[in-house]
Amino acid sequence: MTAATGRPAVPSGGSGRGVDATASTGGSSLGAPSDERARALAAALVAALRSGDEARFARGFTAGPMAALGARLWRNWRAMPVADIVAAGPELEVRWASPGEAVPAGERLAVLVASDGAIGALRGKGVTPLWLGDEVTFTPGVRGGTLASTRVPRDVVAGWSSAADRAARHVSARLDAPGWDGALSLVLPADAAAMARATGRPLEEAAGTAATTVASSSGPPRIVVNVTSVRPDARAGLLAHEGVHVATRSAGSPAPLWAVEGLAESVGTELDRAQSARNAELVRRRVSRGVPAALPTPEELAAPGVDGETAYALAEVAVEALIARDGRAATLAWIAEPTRRPEPRDPLGAYRAALG
Ligand SMILES: [Zn+2]
Repeated sequence: MTAATGRPAVPSGGSGRGVDATASTGGSSLGAPSDERARALAAALVAALRSGDEARFARGFTAGPMAALGARLWRNWRAMPVADIVAAGPELEVRWASPGEAVPAGERLAVLVASDGAIGALRGKGVTPLWLGDEVTFTPGVRGGTLASTRVPRDVVAGWSSAADRAARHVSARLDAPGWDGALSLVLPADAAAMARATGRPLEEAAGTAATTVASSSGPPRIVVNVTSVRPDARAGLLAHEGVHVATRSAGSPAPLWAVEGLAESVGTELDRAQSARNAELVRRRVSRGVPAALPTPEELAAPGVDGETAYALAEVAVEALIARDGRAATLAWIAEPTRRPEPRDPLGAYRAALG
């Protein structure tokens, strides 16, 4: 049950992890396409998708295993709200947008082509998009949507989809986040191995993560959920936590991690009474050994198991102490734009006073 209650360690940039080879042909002479050829390839794939020309689409792939991958991509990209496929140098970027999303999210693939220009290999860049390795379905939400492996049971997908709508409404009501369109898009891999591929994390770490926000190559981040590890009544709170990261673009934020995670935890636990009670208990247990001398560190927040959970609970206290002292608007504005707003005075003092 550790993974069920554990919060994600750190918002992931989702890059720089090395490339997962996903599919390649047995064919001999493959090479990276010229920029011009990549542009032509992207245009041909988009034209085939838009006109419903499956045969033309299939001609974009070499024979053998790549033909099977081409057939899967045809089904997946027709099922998903694909907005465009563009070339980015020799790479392809697939852009998809859920209902209500102002900008599509782009996911990059490295591509190798045969001498006739057909695709002979495709692989993700650091993270492997779910639709590259799995058959997927797409469930539109009110604002946002859920991309799920077909191996995830339908009732589970429906549960997450409605939790996402609830979380998006809650985060919109609790945060004034300039630049966020109010939409949350989820990605649901079927198991820990697929979660590891979709987040670019080692298997063990992915298995212990309930959900994480993964940056796209362009556009908004996606929330990747470990469906095997979260109890149904914890879904909306978990997604509200991740939704704060999406709304404030936490990945790469210069704000201190305790502030980023404390705000997400504060907004998320409002939808999850059990988590809220557990956090209060973790704080009580920690304070019974003395009031901490410092704010939660990134190392403490990344710790596995109950230590990491306690650090999240303490970060929540730290942010709520600032909100109580300085007001919600000022505290949120600083966390969202720490370089443009004055730093709060003595956050450690406010935190220790709240704990004492
Ligand atoms: Zn978080």
